[in-house]
Amino acid sequence: MTDKPILRPVAPTSAAKPLVSPIQPSVVYTTPTPDALDALYEGGETGFTYSREGHPNAQSLAGMIDAMEGAQGGVVVSSGMAAVVIAVLAAAQAGDHVLGGNQLYGRSLRMMNEELPRLGMETSLFDPTDVAALEAAIQPNTKVILVEVVSNPTLRVADMDGIIAVAKARGIKVIVDNTFTTPRAYQPLAAGADFVVHSVTKLLSGHSDALLGYVAAADADLAERLDVIATTWGFTACPWSCWTAERGLLTFDLRFEQAQRSARAIAQALGASGVVERVIYPGDPAHPDHNRARALLGDHAGNMVSFELGGDRAVSNAFATAAAPLAFAPTLGDVATTISHPASSSHRALTVEARAALGMGETFFRISVGIEPTQMLVDTLTVAAKTAKQTR
Ligand code: PLP
Repeated sequence: MTDKPILRPVAPTSAAKPLVSPIQPSVVYTTPTPDALDALYEGGETGFTYSREGHPNAQSLAGMIDAMEGAQGGVVVSSGMAAVVIAVLAAAQAGDHVLGGNQLYGRSLRMMNEELPRLGMETSLFDPTDVAALEAAIQPNTKVILVEVVSNPTLRVADMDGIIAVAKARGIKVIVDNTFTTPRAYQPLAAGADFVVHSVTKLLSGHSDALLGYVAAADADLAERLDVIATTWGFTACPWSCWTAERGLLTFDLRFEQAQRSARAIAQALGASGVVERVIYPGDPAHPDHNRARALLGDHAGNMVSFELGGDRAVSNAFATAAAPLAFAPTLGDVATTISHPASSSHRALTVEARAALGMGETFFRISVGIEPTQMLVDTLTVAAKTAKQTR
């Protein structure tokens, strides 16, 4: 034991600024006096006090995504699910009715079916490709609609203009999960939605090494509420993850363009292979929502391709094995291509019949296309599909 106080190192000063954001893991910030702390809390000074309430790495990442989404005051939080929950909590409370798309991400569906009812909210689901179904599902106490633009994994495209128009006419808020589409393809706030959320974990960050979410609101009071909920419930993001995501975000546009170029080629090649029962890609003229996809997303049909091989689990196992070294992993948006099989991962809790009703059989696969050379991906996947079908 020494009798000296613990002295922390003093950060070296530099007349030049670092090009790259510094990582700032400090949980707490020091001020010289209580008055100086008051000034921070009361807004007389800008800065940070305690990292759950905000920190530089989250703020700078949020600023980058705000710019992409045309948003102001967006909040970066600990996961995509945290972002979804915060948006719902900002828009609805006990006694309100929350409507969700019937093909939301699995955990969002669980939030709708189990967690929100536990908090006293009523919930129900509707088909987001069908505005008449939405109108029929609206109740007098409906306060908010949660929808994904492109559904996972069947890649249906929601009637966003119709949903937003109906919601606006009834004073209902719309939360758009823009994870699949990204602001490069669709900007929910510009389209009239009230909230945009992202799993930053996916395409925006892009390297499967940072779990993060982002949420922003069009209205300044709602934006303030997002921040209060995030900090009070402790949904704060880790500074290290924010820093990692910031680096990933710098290459997002390039990654997205390359991945969707390959996705288009893969969809065409699998469709022409003669061994695949059905290929789903919103950029494919045969896709049931192709016209809507073109109108909403332009050329940005995205990096996700789904398909049904046909057959049984042995065919699925053979495909995953033959597609190596492409990773068989239940995620999306990585820099490298990943292959997921909903029946054994995201949709395993559903019965075979329930999956079939959503258009997913045992050999349904979803490919999240990465930035590898296009022809290599096309060859690997078409050869794997042919090899798998020979196991029958
Ligand atoms: N929204 C969508 C569309 C997703 O695909 C996911 C995760 O896969 C989430 C939200 C949840 O994001 P996270 O895993 O970052 O919590």
